[in-house]
Amino acid sequence: MSQHCITRLIHHDYQAPQGFAAPLPAVHKASTIFFPNMAESRSRGPLDRSSYTYGTHGTPTSYMLEQRLCALEGGKHALLLPSGLAAIACVNLALLNPGDEVLMPDNAYGPNKVFVFDQLKRLGIRHKVYEATDINDLAAKISPATRLVWLEAAGSITLEFPDLIAQVELCRSKGIPTALDNTWGAGLAFNPFDLLRSGDTSPAALGVDLTVHALTKYPSGGGHVLMGSIITRDDALFEKLATFHMHMGFCVGMNDVEAILHGLPSIELRYQKADANARAIAQWCVQQPQFVQVLHPSLPDAPGHAAWKKICCTPDNPQGGAAGLVSVIVDDRYTQNQVDAFCESLQTFKIGYSWGGPVSLVMAYGIAGMRNVWPAHLQRGKLVRLCTGLEDVRDLIADLQQALHHLRTP
Ligand SMILES: *Cc1c(COP(=O)(O)O)cnc(C)c1O
Repeated sequence: MSQHCITRLIHHDYQAPQGFAAPLPAVHKASTIFFPNMAESRSRGPLDRSSYTYGTHGTPTSYMLEQRLCALEGGKHALLLPSGLAAIACVNLALLNPGDEVLMPDNAYGPNKVFVFDQLKRLGIRHKVYEATDINDLAAKISPATRLVWLEAAGSITLEFPDLIAQVELCRSKGIPTALDNTWGAGLAFNPFDLLRSGDTSPAALGVDLTVHALTKYPSGGGHVLMGSIITRDDALFEKLATFHMHMGFCVGMNDVEAILHGLPSIELRYQKADANARAIAQWCVQQPQFVQVLHPSLPDAPGHAAWKKICCTPDNPQGGAAGLVSVIVDDRYTQNQVDAFCESLQTFKIGYSWGGPVSLVMAYGIAGMRNVWPAHLQRGKLVRLCTGLEDVRDLIADLQQALHHLRTP
């Protein structure tokens, strides 16, 4: 049957040769995916990663990113979502029912707290907030209704590193699943599915039940892509999460997946550079009398330092990973206007949210509005968070130095 030109164009039979291989994989984009016959269209399952059914359920490009994230994190299954916050919301909604209770650390990622306080409350799901640096407080808050415990290491903005091993042991002993926001660790600072790998030779891996990541941060590395992931080793938990993910119609664009695949090979180098920059800045900040406290887990007197050392400093990596974040508490005798002027006069640091890209960022936060109670381990003052990019650290320190003149007692 001879076909018309447009039909021949659409059904053209050229195929890329087998055996073509290059550093960056091809981008497979689809809503429709062709089936060879009707039987095949009926037999393929949407959650089965050995075949393809429809674009929302994935293409070879998204399956590849899922697998690479599992390799990085030590997980078995991964799901991709449009943002880190969408990954958090998906976990909350997939695992909690009316009448259940969820526990959150007081230093959790702010929008996760807001989601739990506002959206879950509306659905009759209750919450309690615990102090991440106090295992006894977590133990006291667990009740028969607790169905999920959120963990975060280090905590958002104030960067306290919790004793994850004790937290996971406690939740395991009560049969409560744990979800770790592992954006800061990025799969590099510690192994969330095997917290005892360093030194412990017992075969039992002690790990969290699932992790979420803002791939927006280090995996992307460019400050230009938004994406999130959920990773687990647990088959039954994955089935539950993947079913909800499918019902919600969550999916990601393959060009964004490609951008993350592009970023992943250099993630360790970028993480180490941002980490080294942050440590040098933390050391410099400690010397400045305007700052009454410097929050960075590698500093011996920072909250959570001992837990960070235990979990992140392994024989394999004695220096320990610590990401590119450092917060300072500015002495309360300076006004908010002065602190804002300090931030605004920085040239190399830009004012902005997020982190993990090439450009260093600064943001001022009010601790009082972020916490239930002012934590005993934090000095009173005004918090400024610095996120280090990939610049030369000498330029970053010179930039901070020139802006300091705004912090003078009137
Ligand atoms: C940025 C961030 C998120 C959210 O990621 P988005 O992709 O920006 O929605 C979640 N958790 C932590 C700890 C983050 O820093």
